[in-house]
Amino acid sequence: MEIIHISAECYPVAKAGGLGDVVGALPKYQNKAGHIAKVVMPMYRTKFLYENEFDVDFKGKAYLGDWNFDYTIIKEKYNKLGFDLYLVDINGLLDRQKVYGYDDDADRFTAFQIAVVDWIATWEHQPDIVHCHDHHTGFIPFMMQHCYAYKKLASVPSVFTIHNGQYQGWMGWDKRNLLPAWDNWKWGMLDWKDNINPMASAVKCAWKVTTVSWSYMNELRYNSNGLEDLFEYEKGKCIGILNGIDNEVWDPSTDTYINNNFSVRTVTTGKEKNKQDLCNQFNLDATKPLFVFIGRLVGEKAADILPDSIMSALYSMKDQLSFLILGSGDPHVEWQLSNMNGNFPNAYHAVIGYNEQLSHQMYAGADFLLMPSRVEPCGLNQMYAMRYGTVPIVRSTGGLQDTVVDMGDWEGFGIRFNHASVGDIHYSIGRAVNVYQDKKQMSMMRKHMMKIDHSWESVVDNYIQLYKSLK
Ligand code: ADP
Repeated sequence: MEIIHISAECYPVAKAGGLGDVVGALPKYQNKAGHIAKVVMPMYRTKFLYENEFDVDFKGKAYLGDWNFDYTIIKEKYNKLGFDLYLVDINGLLDRQKVYGYDDDADRFTAFQIAVVDWIATWEHQPDIVHCHDHHTGFIPFMMQHCYAYKKLASVPSVFTIHNGQYQGWMGWDKRNLLPAWDNWKWGMLDWKDNINPMASAVKCAWKVTTVSWSYMNELRYNSNGLEDLFEYEKGKCIGILNGIDNEVWDPSTDTYINNNFSVRTVTTGKEKNKQDLCNQFNLDATKPLFVFIGRLVGEKAADILPDSIMSALYSMKDQLSFLILGSGDPHVEWQLSNMNGNFPNAYHAVIGYNEQLSHQMYAGADFLLMPSRVEPCGLNQMYAMRYGTVPIVRSTGGLQDTVVDMGDWEGFGIRFNHASVGDIHYSIGRAVNVYQDKKQMSMMRKHMMKIDHSWESVVDNYIQLYKSLK
């Protein structure tokens, strides 16, 4: 099968979160399973672009509203990522340093989608599946069916995967003419509550809709930033497929980002050494349990209650624990967390920013990973933590609920709580501090979770079965 993945992110080319990890791994494992999976994404000015070689594959012209723009498709030369990688260059629009966060993001990603569909429409053959990821690619199923110029693609099955339903890419109806001429009778396929909504459009137009865990699929019908009725209505074509993790990138026995590699057999000593290195680096006391948080500092991740939760734990369980935080996002939370640096000597440090290497070192050296997320479609951090023998402390929601079993339950290895509140977090940290004293149980939990198989190999077939059902 030939599968074309279209996405705004793909690790290691450009990543802002879990979307990048998934699109960097799923196609690789689909290829390993004997299919032809390719990735198409915008050409940003990231390190990957300058450190690799590309060939020009196609040059075309398309319209964004009245603007006739040139686009170029370049292809990475050596199949370095395990799949063909195509980057779409649109001068001045996509070739920027960051993935998101510009005032003209709506125009940028609309132009990207137009260029992709325009290019695919020139192919002599048709792909078996067009697989779109998140709202930045949400117009594509609509364009393939209702834009006059691309109707030849109407018979190509499209799959839309929701990695995060909170962000939907809304824009006003004044932007309607950005899309190439389309059948105006079909305006309802773009509309949601009087706005153009790319995510809603994809849910309506894609042949199948997936999201990245079973529980999140269910939650979207009750909590999806305004799309609840739509998910209820379309539930027949929606399914949840839990993400995998890239076991080649995330392997404590070969990870080149960490100083001391370890396996299930050597987990206790391996983690001790990594923890010592981490604690030396940030002046933390390695004799105490080390709690970490890694992630975007946004409301979805409940980052706003982190400062109070950490202070509450540090004041009342003095000398019994340390915290290391890595993240970026809401400037106020960044300020609060970094302001606490120095207030709890040897027990607290926050690193504000994005640091891939440090994140690996933290998964390897930490005892506990805290994820109090309000919304978590799948969550990869807890799966990475488990692979590195770090006990996840999570709120029971979305993919966290589907992957973490509380240590009080049969074969449990983590800690779960119900509310994103200082009280629940405090109580859960208390449970962790207690279990940390029990070396035997810690060792059992670590070994148990390291053996759980969340590999992409075990997931790929679910997607292939889904694609086959559309042919
Ligand atoms: P989301 O996509 O909602 O941000 P996920 O749990 O699905 O959350 O994926 C987050 C990914 O981003 C993980 O690979 C995590 O390690 C990484 N990550 C998030 N913030 C940072 C950061 N500040 N530095 C390094 N890696 C980060």
